[in-house]
Amino acid sequence: MPEAPDLEVIKDYLNHRTAGLVVCSAKVLRPTVMRSLAGDFPTDVQGRTLDEFRRQGKFLLAQLSGDRLLVVNPMLTGAFQYCGSSERLYKRTCFILSFSNDRELRYLDDRQMGIAYYVDDESLSQVPRLGEQGPDVLDPGSFEEFQERLRPYHGEIKGILTRGRVLAGIGNAYADEILFAAGIYPFRKKKALTQEETCRLFEMSREVVQEAIPVLRKRLGDNIHVKIRDFLKVHNKGGQACPRCGNTITQVSANQRITSYCRRCQPGLLLKN
Ligand SMILES: [Zn+2]
Repeated sequence: MPEAPDLEVIKDYLNHRTAGLVVCSAKVLRPTVMRSLAGDFPTDVQGRTLDEFRRQGKFLLAQLSGDRLLVVNPMLTGAFQYCGSSERLYKRTCFILSFSNDRELRYLDDRQMGIAYYVDDESLSQVPRLGEQGPDVLDPGSFEEFQERLRPYHGEIKGILTRGRVLAGIGNAYADEILFAAGIYPFRKKKALTQEETCRLFEMSREVVQEAIPVLRKRLGDNIHVKIRDFLKVHNKGGQACPRCGNTITQVSANQRITSYCRRCQPGLLLKN
């Protein structure tokens, strides 16, 4: 679920509230989501100070004192909750960090698809997929570099965007939004894109993500574990009117993922109008 805009808001929220706090204890309720590569996590993390959170694509990283990092890849269903220690536990809570201010950071995951890695600098490179990501969508480098990174790919443009190697941080929902903003049919083959379309794609990637951040920040407030997608323009809006042209938004489902787009604003090869 969390993509770059969600994780940006979560990161800032947690940095304002947890920087400098000491971890009093840690509890792992669902061991399948935890990989400890730097000692036994609950024992080793105790007494360490939380220095800062940072985001790397679709990963959230917590830097702890004494060369320790908690790297979370929340995949489709992971979420973070920051609350008082007496607050009721969600069933989907996987692990808990308790701080000296009587508050807790909880990692929730419905399907336990996400994974947290407890590492040091040396074992950081063992975190799967972290280092394979391209530059972040909010710090993408130049258009020429973007074009160069796109070059080896031949498939459909939405799949290339969500893979994270060309730009990191874009998932299924924001890929739909970016392609809508750029007026590109999601199943277009990369090689069929004109230079102008590629440029629009590059520019809209950052713009769409950037515009979503303040909206999410305001809507989420303290409920950073909640998923808010209703303000998006086309994603998951199948059957509703396109906000640009009024045509009905099309929604298709493949591999358990939906793709939403406007046939008129994002014409496919056979649907030019
Ligand atoms: Zn439209």
